[in-house]
Amino acid sequence: MASQIDLHCHTTASDGALAPVALVDRAVERGLQTLAITDHDTMAGYLEVKGYAAEKGLRLIPGIELSCQWRGINIHIVGLNCDPEHPVMKAAVEAQGQVRYQRAKTIADRLAKKLNTEINFADIEKLAGGEIGRPHFAQYLVDRGLVADKAQAFKKYLGAGKVGDVKSGWPEIDTAVRWIVESGGQAVMAHPHHYKMTRTKLMDCLALFKDAGGQGMEICCGLMDNNAMGNMRRIANEMELMGSCGSDFHGPNKFGLDLGVMPKFPEKDIQPIWSAFL
Ligand code: AMP
Ligand code: MN
Ligand code: MN
Ligand code: MN
Repeated sequence: MASQIDLHCHTTASDGALAPVALVDRAVERGLQTLAITDHDTMAGYLEVKGYAAEKGLRLIPGIELSCQWRGINIHIVGLNCDPEHPVMKAAVEAQGQVRYQRAKTIADRLAKKLNTEINFADIEKLAGGEIGRPHFAQYLVDRGLVADKAQAFKKYLGAGKVGDVKSGWPEIDTAVRWIVESGGQAVMAHPHHYKMTRTKLMDCLALFKDAGGQGMEICCGLMDNNAMGNMRRIANEMELMGSCGSDFHGPNKFGLDLGVMPKFPEKDIQPIWSAFL
């Protein structure tokens, strides 16, 4: 059975495939009770369906997934239950949007050079609709026939260390955490098992995150195996952080990842982050 709480997913406001209304409908169909929309660097999707979700009886938590960096690694921090109207959050979204836009321009220039072709930026903006991210570049490269599929686009041009992996401009972790905390939310380290860090390095990163006011880390994520889950649960316990759970759903796909799909949350071993706001 799918979890009834999902605190990490995306809409077309960032790089998700479903419009906010369709996402809420899907959550209701799948029997979820609580959903946080956590688009990359924007709360527009949440704002669009706040009222609609209430009508449908779905408890919708305002959320965001902020892009930041630490020692040259791209880190994502999820903010839960933050106030989208708080001046600090409004300024953060504005600043992140500017970084995203400038970064997208740089990615386009770099890809044009690397592939020795013109990159039509307006087409990419159209594909994105909302905040522009690397998945939109991946789609553009597929549409142009320059790569076979999106996975190949990341592998060759957009993934970590490749020409389109532009990190400059993103704030440091502690800045992102403070934005969330000051706007009344809980800061959660997103998918900590994805960063390919050693255990020691991850603990250093989490220590900084916690010093800045971070309270939780995701321990149950979509497509996570039991081994990774156990490791993250132990680290959360050791760091005295609460646990969060979220599918990171970006749209229907062939891997069977869907809203609510994740390992069962070990409530007897670890305090759930949602105890702070439900
Ligand atoms: P950005 O926010 O522009 O840095 O893009 C990061 C997003 O790209 C992530 O949130 C994922 O949705 C997506 N992504 C990252 N790596 C891959 C990959 N290897 N294949 C497909 N999508 C990816
Ligand atoms: Mn994404
Ligand atoms: Mn992420
Ligand atoms: Mn995400």
